[in-house]
Amino acid sequence: MKIVLLGPPGAGKGTQSVVLSREYRLPHISTGDILRESVKKSLPLGLKAKSYMDKGELVPDEIVTGIVIERLKNPDTKKGYILDGFPRTVKQAVDLDEALGKTSGLDMAVYFDTSEKVAIERLSGRRVCKACGFNYHVKNIPPKKADTCDKCGNPLFQRPDDKEATVINRLKVYADQTKPLIEYYKKSGILKEVSGDLGVDELFKVLSKIFRDANLK
Ligand code: AMP
Repeated sequence: MKIVLLGPPGAGKGTQSVVLSREYRLPHISTGDILRESVKKSLPLGLKAKSYMDKGELVPDEIVTGIVIERLKNPDTKKGYILDGFPRTVKQAVDLDEALGKTSGLDMAVYFDTSEKVAIERLSGRRVCKACGFNYHVKNIPPKKADTCDKCGNPLFQRPDDKEATVINRLKVYADQTKPLIEYYKKSGILKEVSGDLGVDELFKVLSKIFRDANLK
């Protein structure tokens, strides 16, 4: 199954992608993760992307779409994949559809309808492991030992773009540039909606039922 998870930052797309990827044995392709990894390694891509990311702006379409199209050539995507954080503009969606062609197009785009209050609360409380990248939340998914990763024991940190001023800009950028994708995928007939305000386990159950009912393979 080839699916896109759509929704504002803080909707829980990343968290659900990790669980879904494990359950359905599909690669989780997150453009945010790929870009952050490139920044961490000071790769040319990271150097280009960093200033946009720090401000909560979108990295230019041609850069991000190029990354995804390359990634989708990897044989591990044959059975399907979960796209998280891509596409984020109508141009990216059109270019993706064109690259995939009609026969191997997307099966479903799931929109995580999320209230601004919940999104802000999740982003401001999010903490990430410096080493393995696992995500926590100070209240909702706290680590066993404060500021320390349960999985690998390394310190947790707050993503620079999760600070309040940047979060507000990211939500604005989402409303202006990404929200129109809901209409785009509605018109293509592949849109499903879920509540992004649900907790992790509850939302996973809702998503599993949607995939079962749609008979996605
Ligand atoms: P995320 O982890 O998905 O919230 O992404 C973090 C940041 O990476 C975003 O605020 C953007 O600056 C950049 N980014 C991630 N995905 C995209 C995309 N599809 N298009 C443009 N910029 C992106």
